[in-house]
Formats: sequence, C-alpha cells, structure tokens
Amino acid sequence: MADMQALEQRLEGISVQDENYENGTAPAAPSKTSRDASATSSSSQTRLKLPLQKLPSNATASTTNTTIKSNPQPHATSKPSAPNSHRASDLTPLPVLPNPAAKPNQSATSPPKSFHLGLFEIGKPLGKGKFGRVYLARERRTNFICALKVLHKSELQQGKVEKQVRREIEIQSNLAHPNILRLYGHFHDSKRIFLILEYAGKGELYKHLRKAGRFDEGRAAGYIAQMASALKYLHGKHVMHRDIKPENILVGIHGEIKISDFGWSVHAPNGRRNTMCGTLDYLPPEMIRGGGAGGAGEGWYGEKVDLWALGVLTYEFLVGEAPFEDTPVMTQRRIARGEMRVPGFVSAEAKELICRLLVLDPEKRVGLEEVERCRWVVKHCGGMGRGKKEEGE
Ligand code: ATP
Ligand code: MG
Repeated sequence: MADMQALEQRLEGISVQDENYENGTAPAAPSKTSRDASATSSSSQTRLKLPLQKLPSNATASTTNTTIKSNPQPHATSKPSAPNSHRASDLTPLPVLPNPAAKPNQSATSPPKSFHLGLFEIGKPLGKGKFGRVYLARERRTNFICALKVLHKSELQQGKVEKQVRREIEIQSNLAHPNILRLYGHFHDSKRIFLILEYAGKGELYKHLRKAGRFDEGRAAGYIAQMASALKYLHGKHVMHRDIKPENILVGIHGEIKISDFGWSVHAPNGRRNTMCGTLDYLPPEMIRGGGAGGAGEGWYGEKVDLWALGVLTYEFLVGEAPFEDTPVMTQRRIARGEMRVPGFVSAEAKELICRLLVLDPEKRVGLEEVERCRWVVKHCGGMGRGKKEEGE
C-alpha cells in the first residue's frame, strides 16, 4: 500500500506544464517555421503541426502551432513482437490484458475494472507529448514491460482533444500488426487516463534520422517496406493514419519500426473524409485544394493521403529533409504544384518510387502492393517486399 501511495505521489505532481521535468533546464523557445525546425540539428526538434480543422489554401504560420519533442534515451528490456509478420499470435501478449485484436467489437472505452495503477511499477520517463508523459512501466505480476502514457483529463478538456484521444484509443486498441505500436489497454482515475502501450525500445525514428543525417538506401528501403506492410493492414481495416512522419514512428528493440500516434487517424468505412489535419511538410495536395473553393466534391480525400506521406517519408529518409520544406506559404504552394527535386545521390530506383508516390492526382499514385513490389524495395529487401535490413542506430 505504501508502494501504491509513493507511486500516486510521484504521478500526482506530473503535468505537461512541468517543462523542466526531464533535464532540469528551461526549454528552448519553439521555432516559428519548418525551416527553423530543420535548422535545429539536435533532437529537440520542432515541426509545424496543423490544427484539426479546415484551413484556407494559403494558410500561414499564424494558423499553425508548434510542438516540442522530448529526447528520451530508453533502454530496451522488453520482448518485442517478431518484425514483419501479420499473425496476431506473433505479438507479445500482456497476460492480464485483453487481446484487443481478438475482440474487435468490444468497446475500447469500457476496459475491465481490474486495471489500476497499482498493477504497474513505474520506471524512467520516456518522453513528453503535448498532453501527457510516457513512462517505462512493468506489470508487477508478469514482469511485462510496457510504456504507460499518462494524460490529465483537465488538460485534455482544456485542449479540447477529448474526442481525439477517445478516437486514438478506439482505433489503436483494435490494431495488431508488428509495425504498429500496440495499445494493450487503458484505465483511468478521477484525474488521469492511462494508456498501456507497447514499449518501443529504441525510441523515436526522427531522432535516429537527425543523428544519421540521412539513411542509406538499404535501411530506408527496409523502413518503407515495413511502412507499406503496416499501411496495407490499416487501410484494409479502413483506417487512414493521416499523420505519417518520422516523429510518429517509433523503433522497436530489433530496429523494426512501429507506427504510433493515432490522434489524427480516422476510421472511415466509406474511405472518405474532409477534415484538414496533419503536418505541413507532409500535407497532400488534395488537402490543400480542399481548403480552397470548397465546392461540392472538393476537399474529400481518401487513404491515398497516406501514400503521399509515404513518398515524403521516402524522400526525407534518403535526403535528410522533406521535399517541400520551405516557408509555410511556399511549402503549400510547392505541394499544390508538386514542385520538388530529387538530389542526384538518390538512386534511380528510389527516385522512381518517390515520383510515383508524389503524384498530384491521388488516383494516379501507386498503391501499397506496388510499393512492396517496386524495384527499389525488391533490390534491398528481396522479393518479399518486407524490410530485411533493420537497424536501430
Ligand atoms: P504529441 O503530443 O504531439 O502526440 P508525442 O507523440 O511526442 O507528441 P507522446 O505520444 O505522448 O507524444 O509521446 C511522447 C514521447 O514519449 C514520444 O515522442 C517518444 O519519444 C516517447 N514515447 C511515447 N510512447 C512510447 C513508447 N511506446 N515506447 C517508447 N517511447 C515512447
Ligand atoms: Mg503522440
């Protein structure tokens, strides 16, 4: 019981306002543009993030806000799921928790009563998001290692993101794929919501990319093949992620990637949505057009937005910066025109894939099957279309 009280006390004081919590120093002021952000070489990055709403086609910096990423250095102790496999049986189960994949119709908002903080031993902080902090945690009974994300209800209310969090929980708890971060369950007390997440032992992919500058072609192809596999699974369930970018990809202990952050994702059984969201550099042209004249039929987009983002991601992996990186107004203008240049050091096969993904007309973008079968992926990952080369550093 004393244990429990200590734990409660430790978590009670935690707030997202507590900027000094991690390193004891005041945080740097967020930079104003994506160009500023790219100039920041360390992992204390910022990147423009658009609010979940329709924006005028010439949206400027004043319509955007910034997020500051934390810089966790987690040590892997978990037993992660086998990379590159779809079978739910390959996934590490958390014995006390229900298998969300096995019960897809069970409401994610009514977890079993048995989950509570006392079941977990809380370890070091792994990072801090806009609305919560993430801790390494161990389920006492089974020694299962996971990540516990703590969200304060009052802050979610203030930020008007309750619906977004509910959506994140509902969607993510029904997903089970080796390249998608598992959400094993959740529980809450009067003040906080706790998400029991799969622990990604090697942290943020963004941090690895900034450290490396850019990835070599084999490593990039391996990641893109895993992304294609995960997106195929998602789209098969009629889920669009809508916020694919290196910041939202975590890395497992074996170097396998894990898509996370389903805050902007949406389950759209008819495959069409018209809400503007995402990050400026990764914004697809159909979203920019959608904010324009707004006539009937305009502004509707489907899962092809994730394919555009996959093209941007491929480029950023290989070049070290996003293809349309510029001032906010120029970025949007260049995206709308598809204005980008692939540097000469990028191989012809990779360039071919990028150019087939960054196609203005969503219907003309290559599909995920084709990504898995493209020359570049096959060359580096073999004929299976799956990531063979996986590195974590
Ligand atoms: P935002 O609030 O904009 O979503 P975020 O995605 O960075 O920002 P969180 O999802 O709360 O916020 O995560 C904060 C940080 O904690 C992440 O950037 C990552 O470094 C770390 N983190 C989150 N989840 C895990 C996990 N499952 N395993 C390891 N590290 C994690
Ligand atoms: Mg997040």
